[in-house]
Amino acid sequence: MDPGRSHAKLAFLEDQIRSNERIWSGFRSIEIAIIGSGSLGELIDVLVSRLRATFPNVDCATLACLDPEYEMTRLLESVEGGESWRDTFVRISEESLNEIVAGRRRPILDRCDGEIQALLFPHFKSQLGSYAAAPLVFQDRLIGVLNQASRNPLHFTAGRATDLLEHLAAVAAVCIDNSISHERLKHAGLTDPLTGIFNRRFFEQRINEEIERWRRRGNTLACMLVDIDKFKHINDNYGHQTGDQVLQKVAQVLGRDLRTCDVLARYGGEEFILLLPDTPLHNAGEIAERLRVKVGELAFFNNHDERIKVTISVGLAGLSADPDSKDEPVDQWLIRNADLALYRAKQNGRNRVEIAG
Ligand code: GH3
Ligand code: MG
Ligand code: MG
Repeated sequence: MDPGRSHAKLAFLEDQIRSNERIWSGFRSIEIAIIGSGSLGELIDVLVSRLRATFPNVDCATLACLDPEYEMTRLLESVEGGESWRDTFVRISEESLNEIVAGRRRPILDRCDGEIQALLFPHFKSQLGSYAAAPLVFQDRLIGVLNQASRNPLHFTAGRATDLLEHLAAVAAVCIDNSISHERLKHAGLTDPLTGIFNRRFFEQRINEEIERWRRRGNTLACMLVDIDKFKHINDNYGHQTGDQVLQKVAQVLGRDLRTCDVLARYGGEEFILLLPDTPLHNAGEIAERLRVKVGELAFFNNHDERIKVTISVGLAGLSADPDSKDEPVDQWLIRNADLALYRAKQNGRNRVEIAG
C-alpha cells in the first residue's frame, strides 16, 4: 500500500480512538455524577446539563417520565431554589410514551418532527432536527425516556452505536427510582397520616428557613394559627371517627388554594398553622376570612341527617418588611403572637379572625 495512504489511515484510526475515548469518558463521568446526586432535582439537573456540556452537538436534553399521581412533580416542587427542572422535566402520558417507544428497549434515533418536539422538548424554542430517546426501564417497567436532540437533522441517525447511551439510561432509571423512594421516606416522617399535610416537625424546620428568607429579602411573612371551635364537643357527640373526618376536610379546605411557597401543617390535635411568605398582614386577614367562611360552609351530617356545624377561629401575626429587634427568637415571637390573637378570637365568641397588634 502507498505509505502516504496508510499513514492517513492510521491517523484517521487514532482520531477515531481518541473520539471514542472522549465519548466513553463523557458517559462515565455523567454516570458517576448522577449516582452521587443528592435529590431528584439534582439528578435531573446533573443528567441533563452534563449531557449538553459533554456533547456539543446536543442542543437540548430532557427527561420525560410517567407521573400519573404527580408524585415526581410534587417532589420537585417541594425543593427550594432551583427551578431549572421546569425546562428539563417533562410529564408524559402513558399513551404518548408507549407510542414513542413502541415496545423497543434500545434507544430510538430519528428525525425530530413537530409532534416529537412538542412531546419531548416542549420548552425548546427553535426547530430541532434529530433526536435520541433512550427508554428508562426499571424492574421491567417502562418509566420514561431520556431524550437528547440536535438542530442538525443528521446528528442522531438510526444505525449509530448506542451501547453507552443504553447503559446510561439503565443507570439513570435505577437512580431515579432510588431518589423517589428516598424522598418518599424523607417525607414520611414529616407528614401527618390522618390529614396528609405536613406535621409539626416539618413546620418547625420550615419556619426558620422562611424567617431566613424574610431577613434576606426584606419582605413580609404572615403566620396563621387555625383552631377548630368546640371540637371536643364534636368528638363527644358524634364520635371520634366523625371528628377525624372533620379534621381531614378542614385540612383540605385550608390547603386548597395555597401557593407553592405557602406552608400548611397540622400543628396539634385540632390546630393548623400556615405560613404565607410575601403576604402583608391585611391580605393574610382577607385570606383567613375566606377560609373561615369556607369551613363554615362544609356540610357534615350525623346519623340522623342533622347538620353538624363546624367553625374555626383564626389568629394572625406577621413580620413586616423592616425587621425591628425582638427580645426572643423571631419564630417564637411570631407563633406566640398568632396564638395570642387566636386566644382573643376564642374570647370574643369563636368563629372569627383576630389579628395581632
Ligand atoms: P375550643 O373552641 O376552645 O378550641 O374548644 P375545643 O373543644 O376545640 O378544644 P379542646 O382543646 O378542649 O379539645 C380539642 C379536642 O381535640 C380534644 C381531643 O380529644 C381532640 N383531638 C385531638 N386530636 C384528635 C384527632 O386526631 N382526632 C379526633 N377525632 N380528635 C382529636
Ligand atoms: Mg386547640
Ligand atoms: Mg379547638
